[in-house]
Amino acid sequence: MKNLQSFLNGKWQSGSGKTTQLFNPSTGAVLATCSTEGLDLKSALEFARQVGGPALSNMSFAERGALLVEMSKAIHAQRETLIELGQQNAGNTRGDAKFDIDGASHTLMHYGKLAETLGEGNILFDGEPEPVARGGRLVGQHILVPRGGVAIHINAFNFPAWGLAEKAACALLAGMPVLSKPASSTALMTHALVEALTPIMPEGTLSLLCGSVGDLLDHVEWADVIAFTGSADTGEKIRSHPQVLRSGAAVNIEADSLNSMILDPDAEDATYDAFIRHAHTEITQKSGQKCTAVRRLLVPRERLEEVIEDLVERFGRTVVGDPTLDGVTMGPLCTPSQKQAALEGLSILQEHAKVIYGGPDGELKSQKGVDLSGGAFVCPTLLQTEGPCQSDSPIHNLEVFGPVSTIIPFDGSAAEAVKQVRYGQGCLVSSIYADNSKFLKESILGLAAWHGRLVVVDEQVAEKALAPGLVTPQLLHGGPGRAGGGEELGGLRGMKLYQQRCAIQGNGPKLSRLIKG
Ligand code: NAP
Repeated sequence: MKNLQSFLNGKWQSGSGKTTQLFNPSTGAVLATCSTEGLDLKSALEFARQVGGPALSNMSFAERGALLVEMSKAIHAQRETLIELGQQNAGNTRGDAKFDIDGASHTLMHYGKLAETLGEGNILFDGEPEPVARGGRLVGQHILVPRGGVAIHINAFNFPAWGLAEKAACALLAGMPVLSKPASSTALMTHALVEALTPIMPEGTLSLLCGSVGDLLDHVEWADVIAFTGSADTGEKIRSHPQVLRSGAAVNIEADSLNSMILDPDAEDATYDAFIRHAHTEITQKSGQKCTAVRRLLVPRERLEEVIEDLVERFGRTVVGDPTLDGVTMGPLCTPSQKQAALEGLSILQEHAKVIYGGPDGELKSQKGVDLSGGAFVCPTLLQTEGPCQSDSPIHNLEVFGPVSTIIPFDGSAAEAVKQVRYGQGCLVSSIYADNSKFLKESILGLAAWHGRLVVVDEQVAEKALAPGLVTPQLLHGGPGRAGGGEELGGLRGMKLYQQRCAIQGNGPKLSRLIKG
Protein backbone atom coordinates (compact mmCIF):
# COMPACT_ATOMS: atom_id res chain seq x y z
CA MET A 1 0.00 0.00 0.00
CA LYS A 2 1.20 3.49 -0.82
CA ASN A 3 2.59 5.57 2.03
CA LEU A 4 2.30 9.26 1.19
CA GLN A 5 5.48 11.14 2.00
CA SER A 6 5.75 14.85 2.71
CA PHE A 7 8.02 17.15 0.69
CA LEU A 8 9.94 19.22 3.25
CA ASN A 9 13.44 20.76 3.32
CA GLY A 10 13.64 20.04 -0.40
CA LYS A 11 13.24 16.25 -0.07
CA TRP A 12 10.53 13.60 0.30
CA GLN A 13 10.25 12.40 3.90
CA SER A 14 8.13 9.84 5.75
CA GLY A 15 6.56 10.31 9.16
CA SER A 16 6.61 7.44 11.58
CA GLY A 17 4.21 6.11 14.20
CA LYS A 18 0.46 6.68 13.97
CA THR A 19 -0.83 6.76 10.38
CA THR A 20 -4.02 8.11 8.83
CA GLN A 21 -5.77 5.93 6.25
CA LEU A 22 -7.09 7.19 2.92
CA PHE A 23 -10.14 5.38 1.55
CA ASN A 24 -11.93 4.79 -1.70
CA PRO A 25 -15.33 6.17 -0.62
CA SER A 26 -17.20 4.08 -3.22
CA THR A 27 -16.02 0.77 -1.78
CA GLY A 28 -14.48 1.50 1.61
CA ALA A 29 -11.13 0.02 0.48
CA VAL A 30 -8.00 1.54 2.02
CA LEU A 31 -5.83 3.16 -0.69
CA ALA A 32 -2.91 4.71 1.16
CA THR A 33 -1.65 5.91 4.52
CA CYS A 34 0.19 8.99 5.71
CA SER A 35 1.80 10.23 8.88
CA THR A 36 3.51 13.42 10.02
CA GLU A 37 4.74 12.09 13.35
CA GLY A 38 8.42 12.70 13.93
CA LEU A 39 8.80 15.19 11.06
CA ASP A 40 10.79 18.29 11.98
CA LEU A 41 8.27 20.96 11.00
CA LYS A 42 10.23 23.79 12.63
CA SER A 43 13.17 23.20 10.31
CA ALA A 44 10.83 22.71 7.33
CA LEU A 45 9.39 26.20 7.87
CA GLU A 46 12.85 27.66 8.42
CA PHE A 47 14.10 26.07 5.18
CA ALA A 48 11.20 27.60 3.25
CA ARG A 49 11.85 31.02 4.83
CA GLN A 50 15.62 30.95 4.31
CA VAL A 51 15.86 29.24 0.91
CA GLY A 52 12.48 29.62 -0.82
CA GLY A 53 11.84 33.21 0.32
CA PRO A 54 14.97 34.79 -1.21
CA ALA A 55 14.63 32.65 -4.35
CA LEU A 56 11.21 34.15 -5.02
CA SER A 57 11.77 37.71 -3.88
CA ASN A 58 14.79 37.94 -6.20
CA MET A 59 12.64 36.90 -9.15
CA SER A 60 10.83 39.57 -11.15
CA PHE A 61 7.05 39.42 -11.52
CA ALA A 62 7.58 38.26 -15.09
CA GLU A 63 9.76 35.36 -13.86
CA ARG A 64 7.28 34.40 -11.15
CA GLY A 65 4.53 34.50 -13.76
CA ALA A 66 6.54 32.22 -16.05
CA LEU A 67 6.89 29.78 -13.14
CA LEU A 68 3.11 29.77 -12.62
CA VAL A 69 2.59 29.06 -16.32
CA GLU A 70 5.02 26.12 -16.09
CA MET A 71 3.16 24.83 -13.03
CA SER A 72 -0.12 25.04 -14.90
CA LYS A 73 1.31 23.05 -17.81
CA ALA A 74 2.85 20.43 -15.51
CA ILE A 75 -0.55 19.84 -13.87
CA HIS A 76 -2.30 19.68 -17.22
CA ALA A 77 0.24 17.10 -18.44
CA GLN A 78 -0.80 14.82 -15.53
CA ARG A 79 -4.54 15.41 -16.05
CA GLU A 80 -5.58 11.82 -16.74
CA THR A 81 -3.61 10.41 -13.77
CA LEU A 82 -5.04 13.07 -11.48
CA ILE A 83 -8.61 12.43 -12.70
CA GLU A 84 -8.20 8.75 -11.87
CA LEU A 85 -6.97 9.61 -8.38
CA GLY A 86 -9.95 11.92 -7.87
CA GLN A 87 -12.31 9.11 -8.87
CA GLN A 88 -10.61 6.68 -6.52
CA ASN A 89 -9.89 8.80 -3.47
CA ALA A 90 -12.42 11.66 -3.54
CA GLY A 91 -15.48 9.94 -5.03
CA ASN A 92 -15.34 12.34 -7.99
CA THR A 93 -17.13 11.68 -11.24
CA ARG A 94 -14.89 12.44 -14.21
CA GLY A 95 -16.62 15.82 -14.49
CA ASP A 96 -16.12 16.58 -10.79
CA ALA A 97 -12.42 15.66 -10.98
CA LYS A 98 -11.95 17.85 -14.05
CA PHE A 99 -13.66 20.73 -12.24
CA ASP A 100 -10.99 20.47 -9.52
CA ILE A 101 -7.93 19.76 -11.71
CA ASP A 102 -8.72 22.11 -14.60
CA GLY A 103 -9.65 24.73 -12.02
CA ALA A 104 -6.12 24.33 -10.60
CA SER A 105 -4.30 24.67 -13.93
CA HIS A 106 -6.61 27.46 -15.13
CA THR A 107 -6.04 29.52 -11.98
CA LEU A 108 -2.25 29.16 -12.20
CA MET A 109 -2.34 30.10 -15.88
CA HIS A 110 -4.56 33.10 -15.15
CA TYR A 111 -2.12 34.44 -12.54
CA GLY A 112 0.81 33.60 -14.80
CA LYS A 113 -0.68 35.82 -17.49
CA LEU A 114 -1.65 38.49 -14.98
CA ALA A 115 2.01 38.74 -14.00
CA GLU A 116 2.77 40.05 -17.49
CA THR A 117 0.94 43.25 -16.53
CA LEU A 118 3.31 43.79 -13.59
CA GLY A 119 6.49 44.06 -15.61
CA GLU A 120 10.11 43.18 -14.95
CA GLY A 121 10.42 44.67 -11.46
CA ASN A 122 9.87 42.91 -8.16
CA ILE A 123 8.33 45.73 -6.14
CA LEU A 124 4.82 47.07 -6.57
CA PHE A 125 3.99 50.73 -6.14
CA ASP A 126 0.87 51.53 -4.21
CA GLY A 127 -0.29 54.90 -5.47
CA GLU A 128 1.75 57.94 -6.46
CA PRO A 129 4.51 59.71 -4.46
CA GLU A 130 2.96 61.99 -1.79
CA PRO A 131 4.72 65.29 -0.97
CA VAL A 132 5.34 65.46 2.78
CA ALA A 133 7.08 68.86 3.04
CA ARG A 134 7.22 72.11 1.12
CA GLY A 135 9.47 72.17 -1.92
CA GLY A 136 8.43 68.84 -3.38
CA ARG A 137 11.73 66.92 -2.98
CA LEU A 138 10.74 65.23 0.28
CA VAL A 139 8.12 62.61 -0.55
CA GLY A 140 6.59 59.38 0.67
CA GLN A 141 5.95 56.44 -1.65
CA HIS A 142 3.93 53.40 -0.57
CA ILE A 143 5.32 50.12 -1.85
CA LEU A 144 4.22 46.49 -1.57
CA VAL A 145 6.78 43.76 -0.87
CA PRO A 146 6.40 40.06 -0.01
CA ARG A 147 6.05 39.35 3.69
CA GLY A 148 9.27 37.73 4.81
CA GLY A 149 7.91 34.37 6.03
CA VAL A 150 6.15 31.29 4.69
CA ALA A 151 2.60 31.05 3.35
CA ILE A 152 1.13 28.13 5.29
CA HIS A 153 -1.88 26.79 3.40
CA ILE A 154 -4.23 24.41 5.22
CA ASN A 155 -6.90 23.05 2.90
CA ALA A 156 -10.23 21.21 3.05
CA PHE A 157 -10.85 17.73 1.64
CA ASN A 158 -13.16 18.76 -1.19
CA PHE A 159 -10.70 20.39 -3.62
CA PRO A 160 -7.37 18.54 -3.35
CA ALA A 161 -5.99 20.13 -6.54
CA TRP A 162 -7.64 23.55 -6.85
CA GLY A 163 -7.24 24.17 -3.10
CA LEU A 164 -3.47 24.03 -3.40
CA ALA A 165 -3.27 25.92 -6.68
CA GLU A 166 -5.58 28.86 -5.99
CA LYS A 167 -3.76 29.76 -2.79
CA ALA A 168 -0.27 29.02 -4.16
CA ALA A 169 -0.82 31.14 -7.30
CA CYS A 170 -1.39 34.31 -5.24
CA ALA A 171 1.35 33.62 -2.68
CA LEU A 172 4.04 32.71 -5.24
CA LEU A 173 3.22 35.68 -7.46
CA ALA A 174 3.46 37.95 -4.42
CA GLY A 175 6.87 36.36 -3.69
CA MET A 176 6.18 34.08 -0.70
CA PRO A 177 7.21 30.41 -0.47
CA VAL A 178 4.37 27.98 0.21
CA LEU A 179 3.92 25.08 2.59
CA SER A 180 0.68 23.35 1.64
CA LYS A 181 -1.19 20.95 3.90
CA PRO A 182 -4.08 19.19 2.18
CA ALA A 183 -6.78 17.44 4.19
CA SER A 184 -5.43 13.97 4.98
CA SER A 185 -8.47 12.09 3.66
CA THR A 186 -8.06 13.14 0.00
CA ALA A 187 -4.33 13.88 -0.13
CA LEU A 188 -3.61 11.28 -2.81
CA MET A 189 -4.31 13.74 -5.63
CA THR A 190 -2.42 16.64 -3.99
CA HIS A 191 0.56 14.36 -3.44
CA ALA A 192 0.64 13.39 -7.14
CA LEU A 193 0.24 17.02 -8.14
CA VAL A 194 3.21 18.10 -6.02
CA GLU A 195 5.24 15.19 -7.43
CA ALA A 196 4.59 16.69 -10.86
CA LEU A 197 5.58 20.18 -9.68
CA THR A 198 8.75 19.57 -7.66
CA PRO A 199 11.05 19.22 -10.72
CA ILE A 200 10.21 22.76 -11.85
CA MET A 201 10.02 24.57 -8.50
CA PRO A 202 13.04 26.55 -7.26
CA GLU A 203 14.28 24.98 -4.02
CA GLY A 204 12.26 25.80 -0.93
CA THR A 205 9.40 27.50 -2.77
CA LEU A 206 6.87 24.66 -2.46
CA SER A 207 6.62 22.22 0.45
CA LEU A 208 3.93 19.63 1.14
CA LEU A 209 2.74 18.22 4.44
CA CYS A 210 0.74 15.00 4.05
CA GLY A 211 -1.08 14.03 7.22
CA SER A 212 -2.23 15.76 10.38
CA VAL A 213 -0.99 19.25 11.18
CA GLY A 214 1.16 18.09 14.12
CA ASP A 215 3.04 20.90 15.86
CA LEU A 216 3.28 23.04 12.70
CA LEU A 217 1.52 26.06 14.20
CA ASP A 218 3.81 26.07 17.25
CA HIS A 219 6.56 27.29 14.91
CA VAL A 220 4.69 30.09 13.17
CA GLU A 221 6.50 33.43 13.11
CA TRP A 222 5.25 36.99 12.71
CA ALA A 223 6.06 37.30 9.00
CA ASP A 224 4.23 34.07 8.08
CA VAL A 225 0.73 33.92 6.64
CA ILE A 226 -1.79 31.20 7.45
CA ALA A 227 -4.53 30.73 4.86
CA PHE A 228 -7.06 28.13 5.95
CA THR A 229 -10.07 26.55 4.26
CA GLY A 230 -12.27 24.20 6.23
CA SER A 231 -14.80 24.07 9.00
CA ALA A 232 -15.60 27.03 11.25
CA ASP A 233 -14.55 24.95 14.29
CA THR A 234 -11.04 24.33 12.97
CA GLY A 235 -10.83 27.95 11.79
CA GLU A 236 -11.51 29.07 15.35
CA LYS A 237 -8.81 26.74 16.71
CA ILE A 238 -6.29 28.20 14.27
CA ARG A 239 -7.23 31.81 15.00
CA SER A 240 -6.91 31.22 18.75
CA HIS A 241 -3.78 29.05 18.65
CA PRO A 242 -1.41 30.58 21.28
CA GLN A 243 1.61 30.87 18.95
CA VAL A 244 -0.52 32.27 16.13
CA LEU A 245 -1.83 34.94 18.50
CA ARG A 246 1.58 35.60 20.05
CA SER A 247 3.40 35.89 16.75
CA GLY A 248 0.88 38.20 15.08
CA ALA A 249 1.09 36.17 11.85
CA ALA A 250 -1.61 37.07 9.29
CA VAL A 251 -4.57 34.66 9.20
CA ASN A 252 -7.15 34.22 6.44
CA ILE A 253 -10.12 31.95 7.09
CA GLU A 254 -12.52 30.48 4.52
CA ALA A 255 -15.19 28.55 6.44
CA ASP A 256 -18.82 27.42 6.35
CA SER A 257 -21.43 29.18 4.26
CA LEU A 258 -25.18 28.79 3.80
CA ASN A 259 -25.40 30.12 0.26
CA SER A 260 -28.77 31.00 -1.25
CA MET A 261 -30.52 31.23 -4.60
CA ILE A 262 -33.46 33.64 -4.88
CA LEU A 263 -36.16 33.43 -7.54
CA ASP A 264 -38.18 36.56 -8.38
CA PRO A 265 -41.90 35.77 -8.88
CA ASP A 266 -41.80 37.59 -12.24
CA ALA A 267 -38.69 35.84 -13.60
CA GLU A 268 -38.97 35.23 -17.34
CA ASP A 269 -38.71 31.71 -18.77
CA ALA A 270 -34.97 31.86 -19.55
CA THR A 271 -34.21 33.25 -16.08
CA TYR A 272 -36.36 30.59 -14.45
CA ASP A 273 -34.65 27.83 -16.48
CA ALA A 274 -31.24 29.04 -15.30
CA PHE A 275 -32.50 28.91 -11.70
CA ILE A 276 -33.54 25.26 -12.09
CA ARG A 277 -30.38 24.29 -13.98
CA HIS A 278 -28.09 25.98 -11.48
CA ALA A 279 -29.93 24.64 -8.44
CA HIS A 280 -29.55 21.08 -9.72
CA THR A 281 -25.85 21.61 -10.56
CA GLU A 282 -25.09 23.13 -7.17
CA ILE A 283 -26.82 20.36 -5.24
CA THR A 284 -25.30 17.42 -7.16
CA GLN A 285 -21.90 18.60 -8.45
CA LYS A 286 -19.17 17.09 -6.25
CA SER A 287 -22.09 15.56 -4.35
CA GLY A 288 -22.83 18.97 -2.83
CA GLN A 289 -19.38 19.16 -1.21
CA LYS A 290 -18.54 22.66 -2.38
CA CYS A 291 -18.23 25.58 -0.01
CA THR A 292 -20.15 27.56 -2.64
CA ALA A 293 -22.95 24.99 -3.13
CA VAL A 294 -26.50 26.22 -2.54
CA ARG A 295 -28.07 25.35 0.82
CA ARG A 296 -31.19 27.57 0.74
CA LEU A 297 -33.56 28.10 -2.18
CA LEU A 298 -35.85 31.12 -1.79
CA VAL A 299 -38.91 30.34 -3.93
CA PRO A 300 -42.02 32.57 -4.18
CA ARG A 301 -45.14 30.69 -3.04
CA GLU A 302 -46.84 31.21 -6.38
CA ARG A 303 -44.03 29.31 -8.18
CA LEU A 304 -43.46 26.61 -5.54
CA GLU A 305 -45.26 23.78 -7.32
CA GLU A 306 -43.53 24.48 -10.62
CA VAL A 307 -40.05 24.59 -9.02
CA ILE A 308 -40.58 21.37 -7.08
CA GLU A 309 -41.85 19.55 -10.15
CA ASP A 310 -38.90 20.65 -12.30
CA LEU A 311 -36.24 19.93 -9.68
CA VAL A 312 -37.67 16.52 -8.79
CA GLU A 313 -37.70 15.62 -12.47
CA ARG A 314 -33.99 16.49 -12.69
CA PHE A 315 -33.11 14.59 -9.51
CA GLY A 316 -34.86 11.57 -11.00
CA ARG A 317 -32.28 11.61 -13.79
CA THR A 318 -29.29 11.79 -11.40
CA VAL A 319 -27.50 8.43 -11.38
CA VAL A 320 -25.58 7.83 -8.15
CA GLY A 321 -22.75 5.32 -7.95
CA ASP A 322 -19.10 4.41 -8.35
CA PRO A 323 -17.80 7.37 -10.39
CA THR A 324 -15.47 5.17 -12.43
CA LEU A 325 -18.52 3.55 -14.07
CA ASP A 326 -20.14 4.93 -17.22
CA GLY A 327 -23.41 6.74 -16.76
CA VAL A 328 -22.85 7.76 -13.12
CA THR A 329 -23.55 11.46 -12.62
CA MET A 330 -23.05 11.75 -8.87
CA GLY A 331 -20.47 9.95 -6.71
CA PRO A 332 -20.30 9.27 -2.98
CA LEU A 333 -19.24 11.77 -0.33
CA CYS A 334 -15.46 11.91 0.15
CA THR A 335 -15.31 9.81 3.32
CA PRO A 336 -17.52 7.58 5.46
CA SER A 337 -17.30 10.16 8.27
CA GLN A 338 -18.57 12.88 5.92
CA LYS A 339 -21.56 10.67 5.15
CA GLN A 340 -22.25 10.23 8.84
CA ALA A 341 -21.95 13.99 9.46
CA ALA A 342 -24.26 14.75 6.51
CA LEU A 343 -26.93 12.29 7.73
CA GLU A 344 -26.73 13.69 11.27
CA GLY A 345 -27.16 17.21 9.91
CA LEU A 346 -30.01 16.10 7.68
CA SER A 347 -31.90 14.63 10.61
CA ILE A 348 -31.69 18.03 12.36
CA LEU A 349 -32.94 19.86 9.26
CA GLN A 350 -35.83 17.37 9.03
CA GLU A 351 -37.15 18.66 12.34
CA HIS A 352 -37.77 21.97 10.54
CA ALA A 353 -38.53 20.93 6.96
CA LYS A 354 -40.18 18.05 5.12
CA VAL A 355 -38.43 15.85 2.58
CA ILE A 356 -39.57 16.51 -0.99
CA TYR A 357 -37.05 14.24 -2.65
CA GLY A 358 -34.41 11.80 -1.33
CA GLY A 359 -33.73 12.04 2.38
CA PRO A 360 -31.71 9.67 4.59
CA ASP A 361 -33.64 6.65 3.34
CA GLY A 362 -34.10 7.97 -0.19
CA GLU A 363 -33.82 5.33 -2.86
CA LEU A 364 -30.54 5.84 -4.71
CA LYS A 365 -31.05 5.74 -8.42
CA SER A 366 -27.98 3.71 -9.39
CA GLN A 367 -27.05 1.48 -12.30
CA LYS A 368 -28.77 -1.89 -12.35
CA GLY A 369 -27.09 -4.57 -10.26
CA VAL A 370 -24.61 -2.24 -8.55
CA ASP A 371 -24.44 -2.59 -4.76
CA LEU A 372 -23.91 0.78 -3.08
CA SER A 373 -24.07 -0.44 0.52
CA GLY A 374 -20.28 -0.32 1.11
CA GLY A 375 -19.83 3.29 0.01
CA ALA A 376 -20.38 6.79 1.40
CA PHE A 377 -23.41 7.46 -0.81
CA VAL A 378 -26.12 9.98 0.06
CA CYS A 379 -29.24 10.50 -2.04
CA PRO A 380 -29.64 14.00 -3.53
CA THR A 381 -32.11 15.58 -1.15
CA LEU A 382 -34.58 18.43 -1.41
CA LEU A 383 -36.34 19.69 1.71
CA GLN A 384 -39.06 22.30 2.08
CA THR A 385 -40.08 24.47 5.02
CA GLU A 386 -43.62 25.71 5.62
CA GLY A 387 -42.51 29.28 5.06
CA PRO A 388 -39.84 31.76 6.17
CA CYS A 389 -37.78 30.58 9.18
CA GLN A 390 -36.66 32.26 12.37
CA SER A 391 -33.11 33.63 12.47
CA ASP A 392 -31.97 30.87 14.85
CA SER A 393 -33.37 28.02 12.73
CA PRO A 394 -30.86 25.32 11.66
CA ILE A 395 -32.11 25.97 8.12
CA HIS A 396 -30.15 29.24 8.32
CA ASN A 397 -27.33 28.04 10.58
CA LEU A 398 -26.45 24.43 9.86
CA GLU A 399 -24.39 23.68 6.78
CA VAL A 400 -24.96 20.06 5.74
CA PHE A 401 -21.92 19.37 3.55
CA GLY A 402 -23.55 17.08 1.01
CA PRO A 403 -26.21 17.02 -1.77
CA VAL A 404 -28.83 18.67 0.43
CA SER A 405 -30.75 21.89 -0.05
CA THR A 406 -33.90 23.40 1.45
CA ILE A 407 -36.65 25.34 -0.30
CA ILE A 408 -37.93 28.26 1.76
CA PRO A 409 -41.23 29.57 0.32
CA PHE A 410 -41.58 33.35 0.65
CA ASP A 411 -44.16 36.02 -0.19
CA GLY A 412 -42.36 37.11 -3.36
CA SER A 413 -41.07 40.43 -2.03
CA ALA A 414 -37.38 41.28 -2.21
CA ALA A 415 -37.63 42.51 1.40
CA GLU A 416 -38.60 39.09 2.73
CA ALA A 417 -36.01 37.26 0.61
CA VAL A 418 -33.28 39.60 1.81
CA LYS A 419 -34.33 39.16 5.43
CA GLN A 420 -34.16 35.36 5.14
CA VAL A 421 -30.80 35.29 3.34
CA ARG A 422 -29.28 37.66 5.89
CA TYR A 423 -30.05 35.14 8.64
CA GLY A 424 -27.16 33.08 7.21
CA GLN A 425 -24.90 35.68 8.89
CA GLY A 426 -22.41 36.11 6.07
CA CYS A 427 -21.99 33.91 2.98
CA LEU A 428 -19.54 33.22 0.17
CA VAL A 429 -22.04 33.60 -2.66
CA SER A 430 -25.74 33.97 -3.33
CA SER A 431 -27.57 34.35 -6.61
CA ILE A 432 -30.63 36.31 -7.69
CA TYR A 433 -32.74 35.22 -10.69
CA ALA A 434 -34.87 38.20 -11.63
CA ASP A 435 -35.92 40.44 -14.49
CA ASN A 436 -37.68 43.05 -12.42
CA SER A 437 -35.23 45.92 -11.85
CA LYS A 438 -36.82 46.99 -8.57
CA PHE A 439 -36.55 43.45 -7.16
CA LEU A 440 -32.95 43.22 -8.36
CA LYS A 441 -31.85 46.56 -6.97
CA GLU A 442 -33.43 45.93 -3.58
CA SER A 443 -31.86 42.48 -3.36
CA ILE A 444 -28.38 43.61 -4.41
CA LEU A 445 -28.33 46.56 -2.02
CA GLY A 446 -29.79 44.44 0.77
CA LEU A 447 -27.33 41.58 0.38
CA ALA A 448 -23.98 42.92 -0.82
CA ALA A 449 -22.60 43.53 2.67
CA TRP A 450 -23.56 39.98 3.65
CA HIS A 451 -21.59 38.38 0.80
CA GLY A 452 -18.23 38.02 -0.90
CA ARG A 453 -19.95 37.53 -4.27
CA LEU A 454 -23.44 37.98 -5.72
CA VAL A 455 -24.47 36.38 -9.01
CA VAL A 456 -27.25 38.21 -10.83
CA VAL A 457 -29.06 36.38 -13.62
CA ASP A 458 -31.63 37.95 -15.95
CA GLU A 459 -33.03 36.72 -19.24
CA GLN A 460 -30.34 38.44 -21.31
CA VAL A 461 -27.49 36.53 -19.63
CA ALA A 462 -29.41 33.45 -18.49
CA GLU A 463 -28.15 31.11 -21.18
CA LYS A 464 -24.46 31.86 -20.61
CA ALA A 465 -24.61 32.52 -16.86
CA LEU A 466 -22.12 30.45 -14.86
CA ALA A 467 -23.52 28.41 -11.99
CA PRO A 468 -22.89 30.45 -8.83
CA GLY A 469 -20.68 27.80 -7.22
CA LEU A 470 -18.01 28.26 -9.87
CA VAL A 471 -15.16 30.30 -8.40
CA THR A 472 -13.15 32.24 -10.98
CA PRO A 473 -9.69 33.72 -10.42
CA GLN A 474 -10.84 37.16 -11.62
CA LEU A 475 -13.35 37.56 -8.80
CA LEU A 476 -13.20 37.55 -5.05
CA HIS A 477 -13.61 34.26 -3.18
CA GLY A 478 -14.45 34.57 0.49
CA GLY A 479 -17.16 36.08 2.57
CA PRO A 480 -17.89 37.97 5.79
CA GLY A 481 -19.15 36.64 9.12
CA ARG A 482 -19.85 32.90 9.25
CA ALA A 483 -17.94 32.44 5.95
CA GLY A 484 -14.75 33.32 7.84
CA GLY A 485 -14.16 36.93 6.82
CA GLY A 486 -11.44 35.89 4.39
CA GLU A 487 -10.58 37.10 0.90
CA GLU A 488 -8.84 35.06 -1.78
CA LEU A 489 -8.37 35.50 -5.55
CA GLY A 490 -10.04 38.53 -7.16
CA GLY A 491 -7.19 39.07 -9.64
CA LEU A 492 -4.29 41.08 -8.23
CA ARG A 493 -6.26 41.61 -5.01
CA GLY A 494 -5.40 37.99 -4.18
CA MET A 495 -1.76 38.98 -3.54
CA LYS A 496 -2.71 41.45 -0.81
CA LEU A 497 -2.64 38.87 1.98
CA TYR A 498 0.96 38.01 1.15
CA GLN A 499 2.30 41.54 0.86
CA GLN A 500 3.55 44.09 3.37
CA ARG A 501 2.80 47.72 2.59
CA CYS A 502 5.62 50.08 3.54
CA ALA A 503 5.75 53.86 3.15
CA ILE A 504 9.25 54.91 2.08
CA GLN A 505 9.89 58.53 3.01
CA GLY A 506 12.83 60.55 1.74
CA ASN A 507 14.48 62.21 -1.24
CA GLY A 508 11.92 61.71 -4.02
CA PRO A 509 14.07 61.56 -7.18
CA LYS A 510 16.71 59.43 -5.46
CA LEU A 511 14.15 57.01 -4.00
CA SER A 512 12.54 56.66 -7.39
CA ARG A 513 15.89 55.70 -8.96
CA LEU A 514 16.71 53.26 -6.15
CA ILE A 515 13.36 51.49 -6.02
CA LYS A 516 12.71 51.31 -9.73
CA GLY A 517 16.28 50.05 -10.00
P1 NAP B 1 -11.73 20.57 8.63
O1 NAP B 1 -12.00 19.33 9.36
O2 NAP B 1 -11.82 21.86 9.35
O3 NAP B 1 -10.27 20.37 7.99
C1 NAP B 1 -9.69 21.34 7.16
C2 NAP B 1 -8.17 21.26 7.26
O4 NAP B 1 -7.76 21.63 8.57
C3 NAP B 1 -7.62 19.87 7.01
O5 NAP B 1 -6.42 19.99 6.27
C4 NAP B 1 -7.34 19.36 8.41
O6 NAP B 1 -6.33 18.37 8.47
C5 NAP B 1 -6.87 20.63 9.08
N1 NAP B 1 -6.97 20.63 10.53
C6 NAP B 1 -7.72 19.84 11.33
N2 NAP B 1 -7.53 20.18 12.63
C7 NAP B 1 -6.63 21.19 12.65
C8 NAP B 1 -6.04 21.96 13.68
N3 NAP B 1 -6.34 21.78 14.96
N4 NAP B 1 -5.16 22.92 13.35
C9 NAP B 1 -4.85 23.15 12.05
N5 NAP B 1 -5.38 22.44 11.02
C10 NAP B 1 -6.27 21.49 11.32
O7 NAP B 1 -12.67 20.76 7.37
P2 NAP B 1 -13.02 19.69 6.26
O8 NAP B 1 -13.89 18.67 6.90
O9 NAP B 1 -11.80 19.24 5.52
O10 NAP B 1 -13.82 20.60 5.24
C11 NAP B 1 -15.21 20.79 5.31
C12 NAP B 1 -15.57 22.20 5.66
O11 NAP B 1 -14.79 23.11 4.92
C13 NAP B 1 -16.99 22.53 5.33
O12 NAP B 1 -17.62 23.01 6.47
C14 NAP B 1 -16.94 23.63 4.29
O13 NAP B 1 -17.89 24.61 4.41
C15 NAP B 1 -15.60 24.20 4.49
N6 NAP B 1 -15.07 24.66 3.22
C16 NAP B 1 -14.99 26.00 3.04
C17 NAP B 1 -14.49 26.50 1.86
C18 NAP B 1 -14.36 28.00 1.62
O14 NAP B 1 -13.69 28.40 0.69
N7 NAP B 1 -14.98 28.83 2.41
C19 NAP B 1 -14.05 25.63 0.86
C20 NAP B 1 -14.17 24.27 1.09
C21 NAP B 1 -14.68 23.80 2.29
P3 NAP B 1 -6.68 16.81 8.53
O15 NAP B 1 -7.46 16.50 7.32
O16 NAP B 1 -5.34 16.18 8.53
O17 NAP B 1 -7.46 16.61 9.78
